[in-house]
Amino acid sequence: MSVDLQEFRRQTRAWLEENCPPGARGDGPVPLGSSKVEMDPDVRLWLERMAEKGWTVPTWPKQYGGAELSREEYRVLVDELTRIGARPPLTGRGVNYIGPTILEFGTDAQKAKWLPRCARGEGAWAMGYSEPGAGSDLASLRLRAERRGDHYVLNGSKIWTSDATICDYIFVLARTAPDKPKHQGISLILVDMAQPGVRVSPIRLISGASPFCETHFEDALAPVEDLIGGEDNGWTVGKRLLQFERSTHAGINISGSQGGRQVDNPVASVVRRYAGDENGRIDDVGVRRALLDFEVNTAAQRLTQRRAVEELQAHAPGFTSSAVKLTNALNIQAGDELMMSVMGTNGLRDGSSADAAEMSQRNRWLYQKSLTIAGGTKEVQLNIIAKRVLGLPD
Ligand SMILES: Cc1cc2nc3c(=O)[nH]c(=O)nc-3n(C[C@H](O)[C@H](O)[C@H](O)COP(=O)(O)OP(=O)(O)OC[C@H]3O[C@@H](n4cnc5c(N)ncnc54)[C@H](O)[C@@H]3O)c2cc1C
Repeated sequence: MSVDLQEFRRQTRAWLEENCPPGARGDGPVPLGSSKVEMDPDVRLWLERMAEKGWTVPTWPKQYGGAELSREEYRVLVDELTRIGARPPLTGRGVNYIGPTILEFGTDAQKAKWLPRCARGEGAWAMGYSEPGAGSDLASLRLRAERRGDHYVLNGSKIWTSDATICDYIFVLARTAPDKPKHQGISLILVDMAQPGVRVSPIRLISGASPFCETHFEDALAPVEDLIGGEDNGWTVGKRLLQFERSTHAGINISGSQGGRQVDNPVASVVRRYAGDENGRIDDVGVRRALLDFEVNTAAQRLTQRRAVEELQAHAPGFTSSAVKLTNALNIQAGDELMMSVMGTNGLRDGSSADAAEMSQRNRWLYQKSLTIAGGTKEVQLNIIAKRVLGLPD
């Protein structure tokens, strides 16, 4: 390690020790920047201090709220945050998806308007891509954006909009040229959700939660200046944003504040608790083997993530993000299946007979089924890998 990097580590360690409040360490909430969600005082202080330092978006240019860290410095920052158990100060689609997309495709005026807000967590962002008739076949979307003077007027609906009830803004893919071939008449537009023309209705899930919604647009307005990347160019811009999304799911997006974060995985401790003796020793050869496979695959996945970050030419890898997202999701799901199989009927208890940890593991197993759907399904990722990574014919 170079002397400069060692010095950077020393200073970073000292600053973090002094400035990361106790309530921003360990398990706990990471803010999306929503104006509708009250922040715990320590979480707010952590966000303010990190934003001031440019470390909510460490690799972005300083003029837009970042700190212009190199990849190596970024790695050191993540290591040091992990060392003291600090949570990221900010997360969500502002810093991870739309921010980096504006950085790449926005005009100077758009960057100056939106990026510092994203970096400070001023407003949470929703993602308006999917529609009832347009999921994997996203280019069939029908939300209409009609230009009238200096505004677009939006009519139609989006579905599966995560967190829409607490978001302040939504970026949408909308049809601006209905007569053009379907991939060519789409634009990416930023919409303020605090207006009468935007209505949100929550959807209840199998796990009992309602983290996503239908979002309806009825003569909703968006200024023309908030169109990103040029009119009818939304397919190109929107696909790039999907790479930022998939890189985030894959743990290899270094644009925002989330990349590199290792979330504790309960699989090994749960398997030892249910299938092991009092010392956690597992007699059943099949279970032992399955846990070993899971742990080896998890270690390999972490090394792959690390290598992908080190090899990045830009802030998000291209089509590699599909492969790393998919293997990450499949490995997490394999761990959840193992956990549920050793828990047996304990994993199915509900109501007063259930213990809180068992219910949380069961809900995690249910929720994580969605990892091979959100951000593009498993089959869609396999198609991308076949075509764009391996170069196989259509
Ligand atoms: C947790 C979660 C959060 C989400 N959040 C958002 C959000 O915030 N904003 C948003 O816009 N969307 C969101 N989505 C929606 C998500 O992007 C879509 O569910 C996804 O793209 C799949 O679309 P679909 O549900 O319409 O399924 P479909 O596209 O109808 O697919 C149904 C099945 O057919 C298969 N299939 C389809 N086409 C092909 C093909 N060409 N080759 C092989 N198989 C194919 C699929 O793999 C799948 O198994 C979220 C989804 C989840 C689960």
